Amino acid sequence: MRFLLAWIYMVALLGAGLAGAAVAAQPAVVPATLPAVLMPSAPEKALSQFRLDGWQIEQGLPQNAVSALAHTSDGYLWVGTLGGLARFDGARFTTFDASEFADLASQPVLGLMQDAQKNLWIGHNKGAAIYRDGKFKPMFSAGQLGDQRVWAFAQAPDGAVWAATSNGLVRWAKGVTRYYREADGLPTDRLRALAFDRDGVLWIASSGGGLVSFSGGRFTVLNPASGFPHLQVRSVLADPAGGVWAATAGGGLVRVKDGKIKVYTVADGLPTDQLTGITRDQHGTLWIGTWGSGVVRMVGEHFSAIASGGGLAGDHIWSIHTDHEGSVWVGTWVSGLVRLRDRAFGVLGVPEGLSHDNVRSVLHGRNGVTWLATAGGGLNRVDAAGITVLGKKDGLPSEEISSLMEDRDGALWIGSYTGGAARLLQGKVTVYGTAQGMPSSEVRVLYQDRQGVVWAGTQSGIARLDGKVFAPLRTPGAPSGGVSSILQDKDGNLWFGTTGEGLARYRDGVFKTLTAADGLLSNWIMSLYEDKAGTLWIGSNGDGLNRMRGQQLSSIRPADGLWDGTCLSILEDGQGYFWISGNRGFHRVARSELDAFAEGRLARVSSAGFGPGDSLRSTTFAGGLQPTSAMDGAGNLLLPSAKGLVLVDPRHLPESGQPPAVRLERVTVNGAVQPLAAQLALPPGPVTLAIQYRAETLLNAERARFRYQMEGLAPRWIDAGENREVSFPALAHGSYRLRVAASIDGKSWSEGGPVLAITVQPFFYETFWFAGLMLSALAAGVYLLFRLRVRHLRIRHAEMQRLVAEKTEALKQANEHLSRLSFVDALTGLANRRRFDEVLNDEWNRAGRNNAPLALVIADIDSFKSYNDALGHQEGDRCLAAVAAVFASQARRAGDLAARYGGEEFVLLMPGMAQAAALAVAEELRAACEALAISHPASPVSPVVTLSLGVTVCVPAEGKSINGFILEADTALYRAKNEGRNRVCA
Ligand code: GH3
Ligand code: MG
Ligand code: MG
Repeated sequence: MRFLLAWIYMVALLGAGLAGAAVAAQPAVVPATLPAVLMPSAPEKALSQFRLDGWQIEQGLPQNAVSALAHTSDGYLWVGTLGGLARFDGARFTTFDASEFADLASQPVLGLMQDAQKNLWIGHNKGAAIYRDGKFKPMFSAGQLGDQRVWAFAQAPDGAVWAATSNGLVRWAKGVTRYYREADGLPTDRLRALAFDRDGVLWIASSGGGLVSFSGGRFTVLNPASGFPHLQVRSVLADPAGGVWAATAGGGLVRVKDGKIKVYTVADGLPTDQLTGITRDQHGTLWIGTWGSGVVRMVGEHFSAIASGGGLAGDHIWSIHTDHEGSVWVGTWVSGLVRLRDRAFGVLGVPEGLSHDNVRSVLHGRNGVTWLATAGGGLNRVDAAGITVLGKKDGLPSEEISSLMEDRDGALWIGSYTGGAARLLQGKVTVYGTAQGMPSSEVRVLYQDRQGVVWAGTQSGIARLDGKVFAPLRTPGAPSGGVSSILQDKDGNLWFGTTGEGLARYRDGVFKTLTAADGLLSNWIMSLYEDKAGTLWIGSNGDGLNRMRGQQLSSIRPADGLWDGTCLSILEDGQGYFWISGNRGFHRVARSELDAFAEGRLARVSSAGFGPGDSLRSTTFAGGLQPTSAMDGAGNLLLPSAKGLVLVDPRHLPESGQPPAVRLERVTVNGAVQPLAAQLALPPGPVTLAIQYRAETLLNAERARFRYQMEGLAPRWIDAGENREVSFPALAHGSYRLRVAASIDGKSWSEGGPVLAITVQPFFYETFWFAGLMLSALAAGVYLLFRLRVRHLRIRHAEMQRLVAEKTEALKQANEHLSRLSFVDALTGLANRRRFDEVLNDEWNRAGRNNAPLALVIADIDSFKSYNDALGHQEGDRCLAAVAAVFASQARRAGDLAARYGGEEFVLLMPGMAQAAALAVAEELRAACEALAISHPASPVSPVVTLSLGVTVCVPAEGKSINGFILEADTALYRAKNEGRNRVCA
């Protein structure tokens, strides 16, 4: 009802602006906005919109009775229970056992406070303690307290810490403890809570003595005799405007300021007068714990409550605390710890006054009215007059409403699951059932095209309105089964998305159907959307999204980065994002990325999903009908789900949180905990180093992801996912720097996180001098081995020589064969240099014996380097082969040998040939080469490849040598080169 009032108030405010709003096609957009009570971060937001999280023993809580809470400056929530103390980092609880502090192990913890010096004060069953830098220290142990309970602490402006105990008031300053009791003016020694107000007055809540103030060394008691309503005061809270608030166990809430007392009770809207705790959030809103009626919020003078009926784990609240992230922490009597936090999304369901939670369809009408179709609860009309429910009693054919449509005349068309369709205009209902020509009583889509024709998509094909009745379309190719969506594109084509028969296009009276065979991801189509560019988007039931631009069909699947393949509705926001709902939540993906992917410009799309864990009451969204989403005039998205209508403000998303700071939590070396410092020196040898860290956020701890970088080991950041620990099983000696960063959205990471410098000492044998020593020793050893080896080899060598001689004969034949194989130049097929040398030697000796002449022609290709440079090495090789062929063909006589002498040098050895004949052969070679007409673009002498040749003829004799013989030919060649190339010299 509260919600309704706020809705009415809000819509009335906007009412003036709504008149004359323009009508848009799908999605319906009119200038209206969502009720503020549904939106995140509004102080007056309905409590049913808050998300509740709970932790009990199963989640690591020491005990389910949560008696004290404190959020400390290092980001931890400290939780006192009747079974011991725990520290919570948003994800994990750390408990403390007897080995850390015997007084606290499994003992009730009643009060917690962090002082300005960052000591955590702990009040327990038998006294008090402080915790600092990982160590507990007992306090007030002088004996005067007498093992009594310590309930609460407060720090005075002068730094002194005061405690409320079951045995009077304690003041502690610089190690000096002072006690105040009944004898000092207190009405009772049984005290429960403390607070210093703005003016430095100490206010004391007592059990049985009312509210007490202490100022100027004097106690003043407020009790029923002085207008204060009750003697049992459980909690007291200072107000920034001065004075205090007090929560009483039976007398309600009390405001005390400037001597005036104002009391709020059930009569003012409190659910009970039995109050236990009180706290204030960053908006200044008061949150009150009650005994039996859950949690109460006070905004202005207005109270609202949430109890077990609204989802709170328990109704008996023992402690309540707010943190700077906006969460309200609630300690219950038997049901553990609860957190109330802002939902990222608004939900409009039964708790907010809707007739039914299963919302199937939403229409934001041109007059600002929001229509919600429910399956089971009829039609909900939401406007300035609140929520009105229309159903069978109003003439609708069914309570099971499926689809909605507003026609040109402003009439509302209502499709149902069981009774056909109805048209509603000015309170008059016209029903179109099977008797009126509707092909099926299950109507999923109602659509009016630009010609004004009203179409119905049913479970058994399509029909259009013809006068007073619907006429089914049985044209060949018309869908005959279920139809889930209808859309008319910019060119006037009508598209029918079907559940099993693919996508049918209707133009000029003819149907053409696209199916999976044409590239559709599935024949099961759930949604259609045409973007501004005229591109058609087709949502499938699990396989992803198709894009049709012109005739071109492309697919984007979950494997391509789509968060969900089920596309029950496609809605585009003002920022160019598609919002796609499915069966496990909804997701957002940029249209530009979808386009880029479809055009092959992007390897993968990125889409952010909102589903389980995102404070939705259900992750199942409406589908298989139309419309399954809408947008209001403020750009908010309306998504019908199985549990209420989900309202999304696309500009305020939950995952857009700042990256949280990272804190190192625990460092262990071989399992032993180390003091937390920026430097860590490790002993030599294999040690196991484990580092635990956390994100300093309670609100987003579950979303936090981590990465780390271990400089000295690997230069890159390593993704640690949700892991809050990294360990290095065996670090080699050296220096390292460990950095850890956290992120909420996986995109922006916390900068300047903690840096842990780690040094692993080397063993003596890992040091530099030792390495030098070892190196010298090694060298000496190697030399010794070498000498031994040489001696051994000598002995073996002698033996081998004998063996070799034995085998030589046998190897000779094989050798000859092998050497023949290696006498051929691979490139040209001519004899190689080695073969030439051998033959020359033989022929030289033979010619000497016979006193016969021996002729030698040496040729060198002209400017071959530039040939290579100009045409490439491969062309060069081809040229070499061609020139070689000339030489092969000139070696005509039996003893002639043509060989490749060097790179581009060839020789022709002609035994028994005289000078003139040899010159003639050389000239023939030259001419034959020229005649090959191999084009040489870079030759300075000719446009074709040419040879320079040197010729020598001699009769080997005493005093002549083979080398001299070759030198002579070479000299002749050199002359030929010098004289202009492409010539023969002798
Ligand atoms: P010139 O003899 O006219 O004085 O000039 P040149 O450019 O021929 O000079 P030089 O004898 O210094 O160059 C020979 C070149 O032959 C160098 C090398 O690039 C090329 N060459 C040598 N062996 C091969 C081979 O097997 N294949 C190819 N393609 N080129 C070779
Ligand atoms: Mg050469
Ligand atoms: Mg050359």
